[in-house]
This record gives sequence, C-alpha cells and structure tokens, in this order.
Amino acid sequence: MTLQTAGIHHITAFARNPQDNVDFYAGVLGLRLVKKTINFDAPEVYHLYFGDQTGSPGTIITFFPWPGSRKGRVGGGQVGVTTYVVPEGALAFWAERLAGFGIKTEQTSRFGEQYLQFEDNEGLRLELVEREAGANSVWSFGGIPADKAIKGFGGAILFSTNAARTADVLQQVLGLTKIGEEAGYTRFRAFGDIGNLIDVPTADMPRGDGGAGTVHHIAWRAKDFEEHALWQQTVAESGNHPTQIIDRQYFHAIYFREGGGILFEIATDPPGFANDEAIDALGRKLMLPAWYEPKRAQIEANLLPIEVRELEGKRP
Ligand code: ZN
Repeated sequence: MTLQTAGIHHITAFARNPQDNVDFYAGVLGLRLVKKTINFDAPEVYHLYFGDQTGSPGTIITFFPWPGSRKGRVGGGQVGVTTYVVPEGALAFWAERLAGFGIKTEQTSRFGEQYLQFEDNEGLRLELVEREAGANSVWSFGGIPADKAIKGFGGAILFSTNAARTADVLQQVLGLTKIGEEAGYTRFRAFGDIGNLIDVPTADMPRGDGGAGTVHHIAWRAKDFEEHALWQQTVAESGNHPTQIIDRQYFHAIYFREGGGILFEIATDPPGFANDEAIDALGRKLMLPAWYEPKRAQIEANLLPIEVRELEGKRP
C-alpha cells in the first residue's frame, strides 16, 4: 500500500513578541487562537496555535514567540511562503483590509492564479489565493464576513537547497502528484481540498537562517494513529531518518529533515484541540500538559500576558 498525505496539517514558525503575534494572526487575519500553551521543551516560551473555529488540520499555524530572539533569514531549507486560501471574490476585500493596517501587498501570479503577497510583523512571508475548494470559515472576528474569511492553507512554497531531492520526497514518500511546471516553479498536489498545492522553485536556493520571521517546520497529515505508524516505517524505508513517535497532546508527531534541508513532520488528525478544553472555550486558558501543572504559577508568572483583541486599523 502506498501512503498519501491529504496535505498540510500545520506550519510552525518563530516570532518575538507574543502580543504582536496574536494581534497579527487573530486581529488582522481573523484566525482563531485555538490553543494557548507552552513550548513543551522550553516552558518559558508560549506555543500559540491559530486556525479555524475548531483548529482543523490544514488551517493551523503555530508560533513560538520568544521575546528578544534574533531575526532569521528566509532561504533554502525552509517553507519560503505560506499560502492561505480565501473564497472566490475575496482578494479585493483583503487588499483593502491589509492596506488599512498599513501592510504592503503585492499581486503576483503562478499557475494561472492571482496571489496577494505580504509579510507578517516579523517578516514571515504570506500570501492569499482565491479558490472554490474548501469549506467557508464559520469563525468570525474583526469584522471579516464568512464569505471573505480565510478557509485554511492553500499550500506553501518550499524553498529547497536541493529541489530534485525535495521533489522526490514529496512524490515518493508523501504521495503527492506533480501536476505542472511553469516559470521556475514545479507544482505538486495532495488529495485534500485545502493545504494541498505545494510549489517548489526549480532552482536550488542558498540556505536560510532560522529565527524570528522564518518557518521552523511544516507538518503533513496522517489520518489516524494506525496510519501514523505506517508513515514512520515508510519514511525510514525511504532512507530518511524519522524520530520516534512523540505525543504532542493534540496530535502525534514524527519528524525528519528531507534532502532539500526542510524539516518535515507527519502529524495525526486526532485527537485535535478539543482534547483538553471545550470547543467554545478554545484558546482562553493557558493549557499545560499534566507534568507541568504543579509548576503552573511559576510558568504563568514568566510569560508576558496576551489577549485576543479587536484592532483599530493600526499595524500591530
Ligand atoms: Zn509541528
């Protein structure tokens, strides 16, 4: 049996100020803060998750906001651009909304689609594309109507230090299909309806530098724990070197660095973000894994307070 991922599960990036991060992804982009927790390996740093109403796989971007951390440089071995998908006819709304926050945008096109490109407050590269596929958002925030709101990821542009090897892993290991080549990009498709179109520049790119404003890793979907075990085996047999299966509280994970330098994760759809709090309450309370609960007071005292708030037209 050949395994195939449905597409992107989540993307994890670095930031600096946690309130600026919340203001950008919740306040400007209108995503829901679905989980407020800590970096399980570094409890003095938040781990913030933004997604749709329930934090569905394919909608989740996560950050480790680390005040005072150094700035990174976008380059090879990273997700270069994170693509969000909006309903058809929504790009003009977003061009105006982003301009209202003083955010510079640029229109580009690839594979016959128009993209609105911009950067977050740390320089992380983002873009919006209109597509029919994918259910409309039912989460509404900041005056963004449902027929304009972000539906989830459209895909990503992977900046590879070795495009041939990255293409090979996407097809031979993750089960994506190459569907086109145009103007310096190769396009691959996964079978899901969002987070499914992956573009790779055909030219190898010089290595970037990790830090604020760069992506740390991209995670791909496994449908359940049983399939996840098969993924680990498949990755190992392909000559890549997966980690052991790690319980991340909201999904199980394995990680491996593919031949083009990008850190890949394979994450399970279950159990999801309602694992430790009700859907209605997602993101309000600082959630800690059981082993950190005895230290809650100390952990909370070390974190800068954050709030999800409506913004009044100024860039965070
Ligand atoms: Zn991850």
